[in-house]
Amino acid sequence: MVQSFDNGNGASTEAERRMQLIFSLRRNGVTDTRVLNAIEQTPREMFVEKLFLDAAMEDTALPISCGQTISQPTVVGLMTQALKVQPRHRVLEIGTGSGYQAAVLARLCRRVYTIERHEPLAKLAKQRFEKMGLHNVTTRLGDGALGWPEQAPFDRIMITAAAEDPPAKLMEQLAVGGIMVAPLGHAGDLQHLVKITKTDEGLEYEELTPVRFVPLLGGVARE
Ligand code: SAM
Repeated sequence: MVQSFDNGNGASTEAERRMQLIFSLRRNGVTDTRVLNAIEQTPREMFVEKLFLDAAMEDTALPISCGQTISQPTVVGLMTQALKVQPRHRVLEIGTGSGYQAAVLARLCRRVYTIERHEPLAKLAKQRFEKMGLHNVTTRLGDGALGWPEQAPFDRIMITAAAEDPPAKLMEQLAVGGIMVAPLGHAGDLQHLVKITKTDEGLEYEELTPVRFVPLLGGVARE
């Protein structure tokens, strides 16, 4: 839980809560200024359920519909930082969920392609991107493990659901010189965030930090 500032009325303003969130991210190792700015400029309250509005600026994962979660901001920050996104990049995200991570990425790159398997989540995220005027995010309902072959190769790929191994189709769709960041390990256990760099010689793996994500599942869910 993030401590709140006392502004004299015993309450903290939105700006103070936002600043506290950024302090929390810094303490947890998110130091890239571009990433911190992108998170600061992305109103997380637009991506959480009404019931959890008060907790939107806390550095914690929260439930969203379809039994899924919006990731902890520190995890969003660490994954985005590890991806080393540049302004000209085209990025594929698997697991749109609330749309928050895609909205953060959209501030850092040319275009984000994001795939979600739950229809209600994909629809809601699309509406949120439109409402926020984020015109460089394209949303698709589908099984993200199959990737988005028509748009491949991607400079960067981020998977926001846990798999034991990176899906083969996604590895194929990563450009040479590209980076993928994904939580790898057994669903239900603690997984490890892994950064995979594709080079001319092959793949380089770097284990970053322990995380806990919902599993990467196959197929499309209509609800
Ligand atoms: N990035 C999200 C956000 O910012 O809110 C959080 C993602 S949530 C931890 C994981 C998401 O991955 C869930 O919405 C889940 O439905 C989705 N998912 C799981 N398996 C998938 C698959 N094969 N293809 C697409 N989405 C998938």
